[in-house]
Amino acid sequence: EAEEEIDFFFPKQQTLAIIKPDSMDEHREEILGEIRAGGFSISRLKETVLSRDTAEEFYREHRDKPFFSQLVDFMCSGPCMLLVLTKENAVEEWRSMMGPTDPGLAQVAAPGSLRARFALDILHNSLHGSSNQEHAQEKIHFLFGDIITSDRDLTSNGELDPTS
Ligand code: GDP
Repeated sequence: EAEEEIDFFFPKQQTLAIIKPDSMDEHREEILGEIRAGGFSISRLKETVLSRDTAEEFYREHRDKPFFSQLVDFMCSGPCMLLVLTKENAVEEWRSMMGPTDPGLAQVAAPGSLRARFALDILHNSLHGSSNQEHAQEKIHFLFGDIITSDRDLTSNGELDPTS
């Protein structure tokens, strides 16, 4: 019951994280460890190779950018890990753990961040994180097909929900 009261004052938030293809082989386990150590619950997890259509739709906000086709090629180039992370203030906290888009900048501005440590360059930058709550819900729905509406869907210890 004490926990319910805490949740009332500090409601949990969800964000979408993706371990991109460049980090899947060498850094996945360390990244998952950092996510758990950072106090996030992993509410959903799916390893998948994105189709071109899915990647194009996922990044449709960037369709007019010069790097769009490179970005889609990269995101389809191998397996990704899709994660729904839950925590108070999850959107902002995950963005802050990832660090800036460009790892060159990340190494200067946020040297402890995951992109500073693992990203190769501005395209192959290891991770995705939603930029706001609305995007998070939209993209979670797009990639997982449902929206988690209740903490009952979560396991308390940050392990996978065996029913998902
Ligand atoms: P994010 O929110 O930090 O992921 O950054 P954006 O939403 O601006 O960009 C989406 C993704 O496109 C980034 O994570 C990179 O993989 C890629 N990207 C962003 N900016 C550039 C760029 O200037 N050049 C290239 N090649 N890729 C970029």
